[in-house]
Amino acid sequence: MSWLKNEFEAVVDKCQVTIITEAAEAGKFRDEIAMPRYAQRDDRLASMTDEAVDRYYTCILCQSFAPAHCCVVTPERLGLCGAVSWLDAKATNELDPNGPCQPILKKGLIDERTGRYEEVNRMIAEATHGAVENVTLYSILEDPMTSCGCFECICGIEAVSNGVIVVNREYKGMTPAGMTFGELASCTGGGVQTPGFMGHGRHFIASKKFLAAEGGIERIVWMPKELKDDVAERLNKTAKELYGIENFTDLVADETVTCDAEELYSWLTEKGHPVLNLEPLM
Ligand code: SF4
Repeated sequence: MSWLKNEFEAVVDKCQVTIITEAAEAGKFRDEIAMPRYAQRDDRLASMTDEAVDRYYTCILCQSFAPAHCCVVTPERLGLCGAVSWLDAKATNELDPNGPCQPILKKGLIDERTGRYEEVNRMIAEATHGAVENVTLYSILEDPMTSCGCFECICGIEAVSNGVIVVNREYKGMTPAGMTFGELASCTGGGVQTPGFMGHGRHFIASKKFLAAEGGIERIVWMPKELKDDVAERLNKTAKELYGIENFTDLVADETVTCDAEELYSWLTEKGHPVLNLEPLM
């Protein structure tokens, strides 16, 4: 508690911590208090775009275990742990101007398609002490953002279909990429850039900026069922707005359909998935 008061002395003069140990009680608190608060925050963010703000934010909280990692948090791309939205990063900076979230003024646009900015590169180089010098905001192939290790999901290329799979941390099974989440994480995390693979938050999946440089959400061909069901409403809304596609998630396979790349390709062909009409990724 003293840490909270020290860190946030501008807004906290007293606080109380309640630890709930009863599972049913904790679930009730999560469903009735915590989740509605998160939903309110997410609703507020849903109306914001990257174009509408004059700054993004760094977050280097994960440098304690991934020294070369720095998230760039924008309204349409939350931190890859899923816990730091643009509004959170902004509040963190206002509460602690010398803290982990520093503003990146949107200056020096180099490439709109990939979201490449001179100022983003400068701030990333500074935040990572020169370990990373170039980062794009919307590409998985061209200088993708670094991934620490606490990402909620990993997105990776599925070469047979020319699309991408998205797999969440909770899913323990195999994926059509031939790797489990743990195996994907072992070659994606640690604060490195791995073109073709990228850690990100759940909320980013339904963003209009998701893989925007490579064709956007139309690239998604497979997700674990739990993740697909969780993001379906927002993802379908985005697909309808961007491409006029109804019920996009009906075209996205999951483990109940197949975890085999060749079978996946046949299924996508049968469904008429839009990825089959996109340019080759590589
Ligand atoms: S993963 Fe989350 S906590 Fe870690 S650096 Fe990114 S936004 Fe910050």
